[in-house]
Amino acid sequence: MAIRTIRTEGDEVLTKKCRPVDKVTNRISQLIDDMLDTMYEAMGVGLAAPQVGVLKRIVVIDVGDGPIVLINPEIIETAGEQTGDEGCLSVPGMAGKVTRPNYVKVRALDEDMQEFEIEGEGLLARAFCHEIDHLDGIMYTQFVEGELHTVKYEEEDD
Ligand code: ZN
Repeated sequence: MAIRTIRTEGDEVLTKKCRPVDKVTNRISQLIDDMLDTMYEAMGVGLAAPQVGVLKRIVVIDVGDGPIVLINPEIIETAGEQTGDEGCLSVPGMAGKVTRPNYVKVRALDEDMQEFEIEGEGLLARAFCHEIDHLDGIMYTQFVEGELHTVKYEEEDD
């Protein structure tokens, strides 16, 4: 288990466009494992490779239904609309209201470089949009309606 350092807003790496993955090497497999560990450790629902300083088109997501790994993901269909609070591990302790599609379909490669499609609604659709934006250097903060606000945690950090 390896936890990587999560880059925070202001770090240039978060503004860059990521390169597609052409082969899942041992290094890439290790990166994916580390991204999952890092996301769970930080209690996030998603993490994109640039957030750990790697400019590759890789995203991990878990909204509570198990891990999803997306390599070179593309949004191929959206529908509806949802407006709600969104946060980001790269903007710790903050959240802001963002409008996203309520339904999103994604095409991506899995860890065997096999193409698959996955669809999600609600939080999962929001996570797809948010994390895939990271791969193009886009932060959710630029879409926030109104002000960012601090998040109140129910439990104390240990
Ligand atoms: Zn984020």
